[in-house]
Amino acid sequence: MENSEVRDKSPTVAGLSYSQMLERALEAIPKATKVSESSEMPQFEIERETHRTIVLNWGEIIDKYKIDEKLLLRFLQKRLGTIGMPQHGRLYLQGSFTKARLNKLLETFIKEYVVCDVCGRPHGIIIKEGGRLIKKCTACGAWRAIEKP
Ligand SMILES: [Zn+2]
Repeated sequence: MENSEVRDKSPTVAGLSYSQMLERALEAIPKATKVSESSEMPQFEIERETHRTIVLNWGEIIDKYKIDEKLLLRFLQKRLGTIGMPQHGRLYLQGSFTKARLNKLLETFIKEYVVCDVCGRPHGIIIKEGGRLIKKCTACGAWRAIEKP
């Protein structure tokens, strides 16, 4: 009988050798950590002009992720140092910005304000409570206080 049970000289715990316990522990780990819906990060489609940048799918992203429009707008304005004007599902930003820069900001926003820290799904909504902002997950119910943008 030349198997691992014979070669394993470690003391047994609850009738299991160390190697058997290790095997069981490894079995308990999910085979592939589930790829969450958040892995598909939304992307702004933009039209860049000399003095302004238009986000063409602004309304689409706002609707899809149930984003607080004012919050995302404030977030972008602050980081870009400009002002923006949402109109008919588009966002008109003063100044010329690259798509890469805008999408990097969108990703940061989604991670902070939309994706749930517990279940990883993009179902967080922002609730205002006594001057504080709370991110609450509509999928699993987890919540936490977050910083204002
Ligand atoms: Zn959740």
